[in-house]
Amino acid sequence: MGGARPGQDVMTVSAAQRGEHGVMDDRRKVIIVVDLLVGFCRRGALASPRLDSVTPRVAAYLERERVAGAELVFLVDTHAPDDPEFAMFPPHCVEGSGEDEVVPELRDLAARGHVVRKRHFSGFHDTRLDEVLRALRPDVVEVVGVCTDICVLHTVAGLRDRGYAVVVRRDMVETYDAPGHDAEEQGRFALAHMRDILGAHVT
Ligand SMILES: [Zn+2]
Repeated sequence: MGGARPGQDVMTVSAAQRGEHGVMDDRRKVIIVVDLLVGFCRRGALASPRLDSVTPRVAAYLERERVAGAELVFLVDTHAPDDPEFAMFPPHCVEGSGEDEVVPELRDLAARGHVVRKRHFSGFHDTRLDEVLRALRPDVVEVVGVCTDICVLHTVAGLRDRGYAVVVRRDMVETYDAPGHDAEEQGRFALAHMRDILGAHVT
């Protein structure tokens, strides 16, 4: 009935159950970090400082949450040199190019978490994300990373299809500016869509 088992490490339990504001929180939390990669943040055809701008905030948040007991899952866009996606986007995150690596600031965290490579917008398409989440059995899944209106949006749709409670942190997601793709407008649309249509909690 929920009492501490004999010999249970009380310090560990209280650290794991302490929420962001010091409130006891024993919900199992998974944080999915979408595509904070060299190829979107540092170099390559799709890299931009705007996408990279969330990295320091995400890094600090993940450090804190990992200590509090959250499991971290890193989605890593990884393409073959002739991937069909390159009909729509310039080649990026080609396997072995270095662009298909988590940014250096997050590598230690990724090494302690779960890395799931993906080839499509949704983290679920042809990947082991479903299996990873079934094993972790989260009560809530938070999503951070890039791009708000592409891989974040499609992954959140996949999470909601599977019945997960989802939180999207608006100050830790971002998208890019390009001709025909206004970052503010696309970001606003995607956050509203995730909140009003997909039923994610956007905070
Ligand atoms: Zn891609």
